Amino acid sequence: MTPMIEIDEVTKYFGQKLVLDRVSLTVNRHETICLIGASGSGKSTLLRCVNRLVDHDYGTIRLDGIPNDDPSFGKTGLQKRASIVFQSYNLFPHMNVLDNITLAPRRVHSVARAEAEDRGHAILARFGMDGFARAYPEQLSGGQQQRVAIARALMTRPDVLLLDEITAALDPELVGEVLAIIRSLKDEGMTMMIVTHEMAFARDCADRVAFLADGDILEIDAPERLFSNPAHDRTRRFLHRIT
Ligand code: ADP
Ligand code: MG
Repeated sequence: MTPMIEIDEVTKYFGQKLVLDRVSLTVNRHETICLIGASGSGKSTLLRCVNRLVDHDYGTIRLDGIPNDDPSFGKTGLQKRASIVFQSYNLFPHMNVLDNITLAPRRVHSVARAEAEDRGHAILARFGMDGFARAYPEQLSGGQQQRVAIARALMTRPDVLLLDEITAALDPELVGEVLAIIRSLKDEGMTMMIVTHEMAFARDCADRVAFLADGDILEIDAPERLFSNPAHDRTRRFLHRIT
């Protein structure tokens, strides 16, 4: 079967600075890959290249076998199929929860309001958030806002979820409720690339963990292997530092 994502020798410069150095990675359908590594190693850039928030310079990224710069996608089509969630929830403060999550489907993807709202209520209910459909972001906790942001990312029924440190801004007691949602999405078969510093979560949820250093994947393995017996000293030192 065609892999869901094929990243082949991808290189990215910001100005003169080499940020991704011929990275290759294949993500299979229903697979969860966690990306770990020091700040500045290129994790966020790699995620953003997948759905073209950032355009890579060399190499190829295929989504379901099709190059991600193929004109048949268009950028909004690509970003509908590979949805990203950030550390900062980026909800619109002047719009209620239901409007926040139905805006893109209605405006960008031409879904009728009634259908978008049905879909929105269903996803919110699943996340224990339907009672907040008319609430404004400032009335919600950080964990609730992040659940809404994940709901919004799912509204376009993506094939892939890209999650960039989605619990990093949360108070520790709110991290669990967000990670539980990600775990349930994995159990349903969602394909995910997850940048995280939550090693316990990566151990539990990842099929494979990739350690990035200086813009490339230094090693990638099943979590039980990579965490207990890393192949590289650099991985070992990183794991020591953060656990
Ligand atoms: P990570 O997510 O692993 O912390 P990033 O992908 O954010 O790493 O950044 C990798 C490198 O690219 C860093 O040196 C960072 O400063 C640089 N960088 C990231 N985004 C930009 C940008 N938009 N313009 C210039 N440099 C950037
Ligand atoms: Mg980052």
